[in-house]
Amino acid sequence: MRDATLSVHHPAVSHDGYAALSVPTHRASTIVFDDAAAYASRGKRDLDGYSYGLHGTPTQRVLEAQLTALEGGARTVLMPSGQASIAVIFLTVLNPGDHVLIPDTAYPPVTNFCRDFLAPRGIDWTVYPPGIGARIAAMIRPETRLIWTESPGSTTMEVEDIPAIAAIARDRGILTGIDNTWATPLLFKPLAHGIDFSMQALTKYPGGHSDLLMGSVTVGDLDLRRRLRDTMRMLGLGVAPDAVALVLRGIETMAVRLAHVGRVATDLAQELHDRGAGEVLFPALPTSPGHDLWARDFAGSSGLFSVVLPAGAEARLEAALDGLKVFAIGASWGGTRSLMAPMSVAQARRHDHPRNGRTILRVNVGLEDPQDLRTDLAAFFDALG
Ligand SMILES: *Cc1c(COP(=O)(O)O)cnc(C)c1O
Repeated sequence: MRDATLSVHHPAVSHDGYAALSVPTHRASTIVFDDAAAYASRGKRDLDGYSYGLHGTPTQRVLEAQLTALEGGARTVLMPSGQASIAVIFLTVLNPGDHVLIPDTAYPPVTNFCRDFLAPRGIDWTVYPPGIGARIAAMIRPETRLIWTESPGSTTMEVEDIPAIAAIARDRGILTGIDNTWATPLLFKPLAHGIDFSMQALTKYPGGHSDLLMGSVTVGDLDLRRRLRDTMRMLGLGVAPDAVALVLRGIETMAVRLAHVGRVATDLAQELHDRGAGEVLFPALPTSPGHDLWARDFAGSSGLFSVVLPAGAEARLEAALDGLKVFAIGASWGGTRSLMAPMSVAQARRHDHPRNGRTILRVNVGLEDPQDLRTDLAAFFDALG
């Protein structure tokens, strides 16, 4: 063969004696076939197999299998982001004329998706209060096809009675899904509590280093996996092998990171409660709403909590944030760095609550020395006055 040909034909080398602990990153768009018959029958390959890079390489299959094992499911699909995961679940289950229930504490882009994308296409939605539990039965309509949950909820951290909601839905043949990003499957296993779609933003704790975007959905039913993959194929959604490799790296330390930030967050949240910094919203604290459900259903706590700032604190908030030395100002979470973000839920919430009009500070505990975090928090709340 001539040089140009040799340049694009990679020589086969021996793998004998090669055993690494890391998962190889297989990058591929094109996948080739051993013979004409294999090519002709490629459409019959099962969904765990390989046909085109968009549908996964062995690197992706390893992460899918690892998440499936952690979730106690049958299969996992990977999506380009957490939000894409939620959108694909909704688009898979809901057709024009159908109805979906979402919690008042849903990740805000979910509410926007229902209002600005699904509703104009004839899919109706209703917002339920997150404390509803079994009373969700009264909000179910004949055309309800999906009940979405998120626990603890965004910003205000209400814990939902997932087993009660899942039991009502199952009775009526309605599918359920959860945004389990706060807990990850290490701290809460949705499928064991009767949920059909267990979704998490891998962007947060599994990635763990604030440098990638990805989401996952694990199901216990192969037909639901097939339907999710059909939607993804229609929309042309896939994930990049390099990002998958980063999640595979992050997930190896996730249990240790979560145990650490859960412990430090519990200490810091308790100290803020004790100093009267404001109402602390963190289900691990006995004084926090949802503590009993959390203690019943969760194996522990992660490192994200909220503090309802005292009325009038807004006047000094900017200066207090600008004075931070260790915490960075930012809204995402689950990485190595501690973050603070002031939030307002007033525009987003349908159901009244006295704290809706207040500024709520969201705190993500990272991996810095807890004493440095404690000092920074104390200075912050001193500055708020
Ligand atoms: C970050 C987040 C998402 C979205 O994940 P992306 O990967 O950023 O799209 C969804 N739900 C919750 C609770 C989140 O915190």
